[in-house]
Amino acid sequence: MIEFRDVGKAYPDGTVALRSLSLTAREGQITVLVGPSGCGKTTTLRMVNRMVDPTSGQVLLDGADVGGRDPAALRRGIGYVIQNAGLFPHRTVLDNVATVPVLLGRSRREARTTAAELLERVGLDPRVGSRYPAQLSGGQQQRVGVARALAGDAPVLLMDEPFSAVDPVVRADLQDELLRLQSDLGRTILFVTHDIDEAIRLGDMVAVLRVGGTLAQFAHPAELLSS
Ligand code: ADP
Ligand code: ADP
Repeated sequence: MIEFRDVGKAYPDGTVALRSLSLTAREGQITVLVGPSGCGKTTTLRMVNRMVDPTSGQVLLDGADVGGRDPAALRRGIGYVIQNAGLFPHRTVLDNVATVPVLLGRSRREARTTAAELLERVGLDPRVGSRYPAQLSGGQQQRVGVARALAGDAPVLLMDEPFSAVDPVVRADLQDELLRLQSDLGRTILFVTHDIDEAIRLGDMVAVLRVGGTLAQFAHPAELLSS
C-alpha cells in the first residue's frame, strides 16, 4: 500500500508542483493519476521511489515513511516504466530484461530464462529477444519496458505515461495486456496518464489532479463526476 499524507512539493526554483495531496493506492490495485500537463503527476509518482522528496507531508510504503529508506534499497522493490521505455540501446531485448534479475543476484542463465518467460508474458515473440531496441516498434519497446519492470518481482510498479507515445490501436492492445497481467500478478500499480479514457479503462481508483497540484477527485472510475 502506498499512502500520500498531506504531501506538498515546491521545487528549489519556487515552482509549487503539489499542495497537500492525500490519497492511498491500495495493494493489488491500479491507481491512476490523471490530469493536464504540469498538474504534478510525475512529481507524485517519483516521490514513491525517492527520485523526488516532498517538502511537506509524508509518503508511506506499507506503513513506513520512504524518507527513512535508502533510495537504492527502496528501488529494488519498485518497478519503474516510463514513456519510450528507456531501454538500454546497446543491449539486446533479452539482456535488457535479464539485467534486472542479475542485479538482484541471480545467475545469468537463470536471469535469461526469467527474461524469456516475461517477454512471452507481455505478448512478444521469443525471437525479438535477440534484437536491439531500435529494431523494435514503439509498441514492442513498451512491452519490453513492462517486462523489465516486472523482472524484479517488485510488488510495486510506477508507470509514467507508459503507453502515450504509441498509436491508439497499439495503445489499446497494451492496455489489455496490462489488465491481463495485473489479474494474474496483482501488483500495486501507480499509473500516470493525461488521458482520461485510459484512466477510466485501467484504474481501480482514479485520482484527478488540477494544475496547481491539488486533488479534484479520487473515485472509482464509475463514480467519477464529469466536471
Ligand atoms: P474492499 O473493501 O473489499 O477492498 P473495494 O476495493 O471495492 O472493496 O472498495 C470498497 C470501497 O472503498 C469503495 O466504496 C471504494 O470507493 C473505496 N476504495 C477502494 N479503493 C480505495 C482507495 N484506494 N482509497 C480510498 N477508497 C477506496
Ligand atoms: P505532470 O507530470 O502532471 O506534467 P510534473 O510533476 O512534471 O507534472 O510537474 C509539476 C510542476 O512542477 C510543473 O509546473 C513543472 O514545470 C514543475 N517541475 C517539475 N519538475 C521540476 C523541477 N525539477 N524543477 C522545477 N520545476 C519542476
